[in-house]
Amino acid sequence: MRYGPHLLDEVLRRTDIVQLVGARVKLTRRGQQFWGCCPFHKERSPSFKVENARRTYKCFGCGKGGDAFRWLMETEGLTFPESVERLAAQAGVELPKWSPEDEAREEKRKSLYDVIEAGCAFFEAQLREPQGRAARDYLASRGLNGEVAKTFRLGYAPSGHNALLEHLKTKNVTMDDAVAAGLVRPAEGERGARDFFFNRVTFPISDARGRTVAFGARALEPDAKPKYINTGETSLFSKGQLLYNFAAARAPAIKAQTVVVAEGYMDVIALVRAGFDYAVAPLGTALTEDQLGLLWRTAPEPVMAFDGDEAGLRAAHRAARLALPMLKPGCSLRFVFLPKGEDPDSFLAAQGPARMKAMLDAAEPLSKVLWRVETEGKDFSTPERRAGLERTLAEIVGLIGDAKIADYYKRDFDQQVFDAFKRRAAAPAAGSAYGADRGKAPARGGKNGAPFRKPPLLPVSSQLKASLVARAGRAGVRQLKEAEIARCLLAAPEIAVRHGEILAEVPFSDRSLDTLRHELLNLAASSFRLENPGLETHLAARGMADLVARLGRGPGAPADEVSGGDTDAEAQFLRAAQELRDLAEIEPERQRAAERLRAEATEANWAEYSRLKGSSGD
Ligand SMILES: [Zn+2]
Repeated sequence: MRYGPHLLDEVLRRTDIVQLVGARVKLTRRGQQFWGCCPFHKERSPSFKVENARRTYKCFGCGKGGDAFRWLMETEGLTFPESVERLAAQAGVELPKWSPEDEAREEKRKSLYDVIEAGCAFFEAQLREPQGRAARDYLASRGLNGEVAKTFRLGYAPSGHNALLEHLKTKNVTMDDAVAAGLVRPAEGERGARDFFFNRVTFPISDARGRTVAFGARALEPDAKPKYINTGETSLFSKGQLLYNFAAARAPAIKAQTVVVAEGYMDVIALVRAGFDYAVAPLGTALTEDQLGLLWRTAPEPVMAFDGDEAGLRAAHRAARLALPMLKPGCSLRFVFLPKGEDPDSFLAAQGPARMKAMLDAAEPLSKVLWRVETEGKDFSTPERRAGLERTLAEIVGLIGDAKIADYYKRDFDQQVFDAFKRRAAAPAAGSAYGADRGKAPARGGKNGAPFRKPPLLPVSSQLKASLVARAGRAGVRQLKEAEIARCLLAAPEIAVRHGEILAEVPFSDRSLDTLRHELLNLAASSFRLENPGLETHLAARGMADLVARLGRGPGAPADEVSGGDTDAEAQFLRAAQELRDLAEIEPERQRAAERLRAEATEANWAEYSRLKGSSGD
């Protein structure tokens, strides 16, 4: 699909999103906005907002939101191109005609689907033939009968090297197409063209729409290497972008609001048979960003099921690291570690579905797994090792893309470090970061050994000093803008109430200012009376005395007059926030995103473009 951003914008401009959403959700007008009960989560009082001005919908309860395209994808399960076509037709926007090359390419793709389908039917038939006996025996040894084979369209690629090739010839499939479909290896040197799969059990892999596009295959000979292979990359198949069983699992996963990610085909089949029909698996590689994106379209916290051994923990570690930059409020991962030596298939056979369900329900959150990976079985008996751990944890927090989530992770890790090492210390050691902070924050510090509700934050003065030290160029300008915004907030704290959404999006690079921002937003949300000097006292009690003092003394503080001062601060805040946004290199990024979108109007490119344009509602 090749529609430029302008055309897609045009479709959205001409779409009445209130009417579109209103067809499914009862909406009530409040000023320029329409509110209703969110269709994505259960609620009694409306926290779901639709706005024609911004052309978005947004739920403040579960966080779901987006434009009209996303609405159709979320509620009707349409693909992005299908959503575009539907809305364009309704809005009377003419989509550009396909070029002859586009048409030829589409024709080619269509014929490849047919070729792969022919291959799939051939493998299925071979499994029932006498030569499929070894394959049937293997499946039976794993507890799979003919009915299961039929459901999952399992098959057998015969031994010999050209059984499929010969079959495809009888179907008038050209050699080019057989090769392009990934079913046949082209001739090479002395060797003629030959089948890609032979003497293997085949597992068809389908795309998100349920069309077979590739195969995974398991060797039957015990010493064949590798044990599993799958179709190489073709124009229809890229193994990092699909998940095994995704098309079938999608609807059940959306309904159950959970999806289980197992390691292999057999695990998925075992899970589905045991009633977990929302099970999927990556295709022989570690989870990719694209696959994580697919998973999050079905459920907010996909559950990764790993074997409970070293390799499982390492795989979990990789998945966790991959997810960090992509985390969004409400979107995370959870993890299940099966007992040592078990995979979901063997665990289900030995323990049954009820135990499996209990395991899945008790899946560990991402933050806990990250902590375990870094600490389990390790010795932190020296100060250097503990400091090393804190540095590693800080690096993990640094990988998190979303500032709000990064802040929560930092608090969570601080608490765990505190619980693990510092609580044991008899008294707060003078000069230690935590000890010093505790002294300054009597409102939060408990008696010695008493639990802290929230972990104390590291002192901010050194961070701020480092950040405000004159740095040359762009980075320095950013720091100054950030400080300017913070000053505006202190001068007119109700900005946090009036412009909470803008404040939440300010790309602070300075962690201490980020902390200040979150404190203000929390206060605004808890209807704390946001006014000075009560606020400064409160912030001081939160360990931000140095920050407040420094900001107050700095140049460029907004006029703090009794009348008009607040409005000035507000205007200054809005201007500075916008400038900072642009400075944060959204502009060049936005241009790159627009180019990518022009080159190919995929859902991912549109989502990225919308996000950078600030109109996605996310
Ligand atoms: Zn909701």
